[in-house]
Amino acid sequence: MVRKIIIAGNWKMNKTMAEAKALVKELKGLVADVKAVEIVVCPPFTALNAVVEAAAGSNIKVGAQNVHWAGSGAFTGEISAAMLKEAGVEYVIIGHSERRQYFGETDATVNQRLKAALAAGLKPIVCIGETLEEREQGMTEKVLLTQLEGGLAGLSSDQVAGVVIAYEPVWAIGTGKTATPEMAEETHRYIRCTLKSLFDEVAEDVVIQYGGSMKAANSGQLVAQKNIDGGLIGGASLEAESFAALIKNAVA
Ligand code: PEP
Repeated sequence: MVRKIIIAGNWKMNKTMAEAKALVKELKGLVADVKAVEIVVCPPFTALNAVVEAAAGSNIKVGAQNVHWAGSGAFTGEISAAMLKEAGVEYVIIGHSERRQYFGETDATVNQRLKAALAAGLKPIVCIGETLEEREQGMTEKVLLTQLEGGLAGLSSDQVAGVVIAYEPVWAIGTGKTATPEMAEETHRYIRCTLKSLFDEVAEDVVIQYGGSMKAANSGQLVAQKNIDGGLIGGASLEAESFAALIKNAVA
């Protein structure tokens, strides 16, 4: 099976509604002819509706940056999967390293959020990745195995086929340090082999994105690797021109 290339922009806590609309309007024009990439933008919750409207009828899909596992209730500050669906959202990022680092996200809560997203028909992008310290201690594979086992626990193979994994070495996020294409490919291969041992042949269908200082200058070399099926992009997704160039170079 030929896997889709999915490139998603994680805007984090950036862009007001007006800024978000303007960015999507500009991006729409720049990527209108792109067919080989599924393009996703993930604005903050407050701009979701505006972005869904601005992206309507285009090849740009919309994602959220988090989702709660409960359907409703006393969870101040959280958003449910049904709320995201109603807003017209298709994708949702789960377990980004910033959520793990600053907001107490664990593999267990990733797993709960993931199950809620799948049950609601959202397409989850589950983030995994090692810190610099873990890499230097030779623990990368162990960390990724633990995150995959915990994050995907209890899922069927069919469900796993619909999960996007974003491999984001924490040391490469927002630092300008990118894993070399070869280094990233080696880790992506490990992730796919691990998925195979956990969920069988369906692992071949799973889209595995790379994230960490991906930009127009390196997206082509990264996405050219056999097991790298796109990217999760922070900084370079905040301007329409840089994001469009990254997308086009990825499949040039
Ligand atoms: C991210 O935060 O998911 C990310 C990859 O950020 P950046 O592209 O800025 O490194």
